[in-house]
Amino acid sequence: MHDDRALVEARLKRVLDERIRPAVYPESVPLDVAVWHAPGEPVSVAEGLAAVPGPIAAGDAWGAPWGTSWFTVTGTVPSAWRGRIVEAVLDLGFDENMPGFQCEGLVHLPDGSPVKGLNPRNQWVRVAAPARGGESVRLHVEAASNPVILGHPLFRPTALGDRDTAGTAPLYRLGRMDLAVFDRTVWDLVLDLEVLGELMAELPVDGARRWDVLRAVGRALDRIDLQDVNATAAAARAELAGVLAVPAAPSAHRISAVGHAHIDSAWLWPLRETVRKVARTAANMTALLADEPGFVFAMSQAQQWAWIKEHRPQVWAQVVKAVAEGRFVPAGGMWVESDTNMPGSEAMARQFVHGKRFFIDEFGIDNEEAWLPDTFGFAAGLPQIIKAAGARRLLTQKISWSRVNRFPHHTFLWEGIDGTRIFTHFPPVDTYNCSMKGGELAHAARNFREKGAARHSLAPTGWGDGGGGTTREMVGKAARLRDLEGSPTVTWETPAAFFARAEADYPNPPVWVGELYLELHRATLTSQAGTKQGNRLCEALLREAELWAATAAVRAGAPYPYEQLDRVWKTVLLHQFHDILPGSSIAWVHREARDTYARLARELEGIVLAAQRALAGDAPAGGRLVFNAAPHARRGVPAGGAAPAEPAPAVTVRPRDGGGYVLDDGLVRAEIDGRGLIVSAYDHRARRESLPPGDAAALLQLHQDLPNRWDAWDVDEFYRNTVTDLTSVDDLTADGRAVRVTRSFGSSSVIQTYTLAAGRIEVRTEVDWHETEKLLKMAFPLDVRADRYAAETQYGHVQRPTHTNTSWEAARFEACNHRFVHVEEPGWGAAVVTASTYGHDVTRAVRDDGGTTTTVRVSLLRAPRFPDPETDQGAHAFVHALVPGAAIGDAVREGYFLTLPERELPGDVPVAPLVTIGDEAVVITAVKLADDGSGDVVVRFHESRGGRAATTLRAGFPVGTVTATDLLERPLRELPHEVPHEDGTVALTLRPFELVTLRLTRR
Ligand SMILES: [Zn+2]
Repeated sequence: MHDDRALVEARLKRVLDERIRPAVYPESVPLDVAVWHAPGEPVSVAEGLAAVPGPIAAGDAWGAPWGTSWFTVTGTVPSAWRGRIVEAVLDLGFDENMPGFQCEGLVHLPDGSPVKGLNPRNQWVRVAAPARGGESVRLHVEAASNPVILGHPLFRPTALGDRDTAGTAPLYRLGRMDLAVFDRTVWDLVLDLEVLGELMAELPVDGARRWDVLRAVGRALDRIDLQDVNATAAAARAELAGVLAVPAAPSAHRISAVGHAHIDSAWLWPLRETVRKVARTAANMTALLADEPGFVFAMSQAQQWAWIKEHRPQVWAQVVKAVAEGRFVPAGGMWVESDTNMPGSEAMARQFVHGKRFFIDEFGIDNEEAWLPDTFGFAAGLPQIIKAAGARRLLTQKISWSRVNRFPHHTFLWEGIDGTRIFTHFPPVDTYNCSMKGGELAHAARNFREKGAARHSLAPTGWGDGGGGTTREMVGKAARLRDLEGSPTVTWETPAAFFARAEADYPNPPVWVGELYLELHRATLTSQAGTKQGNRLCEALLREAELWAATAAVRAGAPYPYEQLDRVWKTVLLHQFHDILPGSSIAWVHREARDTYARLARELEGIVLAAQRALAGDAPAGGRLVFNAAPHARRGVPAGGAAPAEPAPAVTVRPRDGGGYVLDDGLVRAEIDGRGLIVSAYDHRARRESLPPGDAAALLQLHQDLPNRWDAWDVDEFYRNTVTDLTSVDDLTADGRAVRVTRSFGSSSVIQTYTLAAGRIEVRTEVDWHETEKLLKMAFPLDVRADRYAAETQYGHVQRPTHTNTSWEAARFEACNHRFVHVEEPGWGAAVVTASTYGHDVTRAVRDDGGTTTTVRVSLLRAPRFPDPETDQGAHAFVHALVPGAAIGDAVREGYFLTLPERELPGDVPVAPLVTIGDEAVVITAVKLADDGSGDVVVRFHESRGGRAATTLRAGFPVGTVTATDLLERPLRELPHEVPHEDGTVALTLRPFELVTLRLTRR
């Protein structure tokens, strides 16, 4: 037979596009439309309904950027349509390629009840099925004219990302606003042909199935009367029934489809718009669940659920009903789908505490899955945190975005720094916005790395990012793909049901040890420095606020600010969302984030000060107390307590031969040369120089930084090819115990201030930054031969090689640390500690003298122009420190000291810590009162050096019982969770990096 594949395939495309799809709505009449444009920010539903609308018609322009318009559409169902299915087709000016990134709407009935959302792939509202004829129709659409930020061409700077700069020119033109007859048979024919056409394209050309399908499609098209598709659709479908009825092969890949809308809690839209996006999608999904009995929808991020509950009670009522039916299911157990690289230990834990608690409190649902499809890499501390939260499984998709190395597994055990293993699935469909296209499913089956050992994968199905969710077309396609020869099988399932199936299917999955590093988006560790500093500051203040408020409650009977801390925590957690903390949102989001962090910091300072005043009492003898919130004693003040402090080592500053100054505190001698650079960092105790001969530390280096794509997200490796060392000096002075250097470069200027603090060389860098597409780094070359380095992560540290032997190491040219990067050779090491930066790189070079230079460089600032064209412009201040002679434990301690400054208050009577731990390797990360208001003291700690610890915890108050709990402060499932103690002293044995939470009742 002749090969006419191309002919039939082209015929299918044209007839579908031009004849069959348009026949889904064979008859229509225009609706009357009126509109009221809200003058500023969104208004309540009641206000929108009560407003008096003015005239507008299809084809008219509407929608200033970020505006809200309330459309009222009215009409009458023609009597001739009696018995037919009638829908309103409401096109707000949609571009169907932009679901979630464009204008959107939520349809309400006149009584204010929500009906469903409108978006470019979901423009219909069911009006009558079947119609009586003569029904009057009145719908109200709350429409949001959100601008397209990620437009074409991609990644071009735009002023549309902030209401203040976006202008007022209307963005959209109203499309058809009709009442129309919906022809279900034609709609079914469209799906039959789409499923078969897409399947056919994936089948082998030399296999019979491809030709069976091709011939059936040809016959179906022959049956269509092109002038009367509606009359002939059923006959065409009959030609396809045979090929659609052939079951899948027994070896077919099995896909669990989970209805989903991955909604970014803020990104190319502000937080307030996400509140509405979530409501639109949830309304859409409850409507779809009512229409489609087998469908299941999963929604993550407790914050988004909380928004619905707070802002859209009627949508919430529908959601609650669907949850009770087990079909609208909470996915995961985090407050938001946060970044996981940068959040500190406690913040990462609290993401799970608040996320899980919301689902437990509202629905009694305690998920065992963590759900993070889109987060930019996964820190190696996460498995232990997931387990400590009472979960044991993880889903992510994002590692498929890695640009260099292909991840070897799709289902595996992920092992974290402490040895905890989490059953992890990484959907081979390679998207969290699956739309049930044949190409997507075939890709999942082909791509699946566990073939031969396992058969199941998950496909998150529905429009995401900006919302929308699953469509009825996706559900219709899934029904045809349930059991179809040549295709993977498709079944709607909850995430939990999938995981149970996948675990049973794969009893011995392979193991991946260490971080899941994303080989992309590395600049998210640096972009939007203000947002990152706000996060770090609030994390530190939350530690202090809980510690001192708990201490004041136990010691002085002060009230504990439960509700305030709960609210502040949730706000900080929200801002760790994977496009806020990473700095990849529009200007509006980051402007608000900076304001919010400043407000939270003031509030937390208030809590800290009130608690410390309650503890310090009056100071009749005129004494001074230093409060030490760090987990290690300093200057004689115990960790978590307050006492008069011993003086810090005296620092001398003298001029240096050849220019510059020398600072010395008896522990370290730092020489600053005439260029204002550290040219010597001498460790008196070890009698050793830290820096390589001829090198200089605290050197600022400026790189050209224009990545090929994703400006705020990416730094591409070639940035290293050009570098300017900033060594010119405007001014160099010694000022008391500080040495200060002023420089200018480009349109910017910088002041670096050097001080010594008990063996720590601190560098304060104040930058007035006015560069474009540049990356500013600060280098600390060290005379250390290290094959690997340690970077702090949640509840421990991760080791990374300093060499680039393989493509895996070479790809990690920019990575994350929390408060320190530590390098060492046997007997001596050094740490670079940081108060607020996360991005860094570590490189090695062998010198002519045979020695090895290990260079740690911290990333300070970038200046990408998309999506925020003014990213990072203006004044910034950073604090870093070089700690010569630091072992890993010193790095941990100095990191806390740098981020938790001492606070001095009038007071005569020292404050004893609530809990003391006998071994410095065991670090307390939280002391607080239990969230349940019982007054119990909760203390969380971990082994911080990667070794074993056998020590004691001593409570500084009368203790009743001690219970080992999970992060949610519930007794551990493993028995015995009751921990023996003797007068409040508990014997502890911790394995490397082990995390422990104890709950102590008070007698
Ligand atoms: Zn996302």
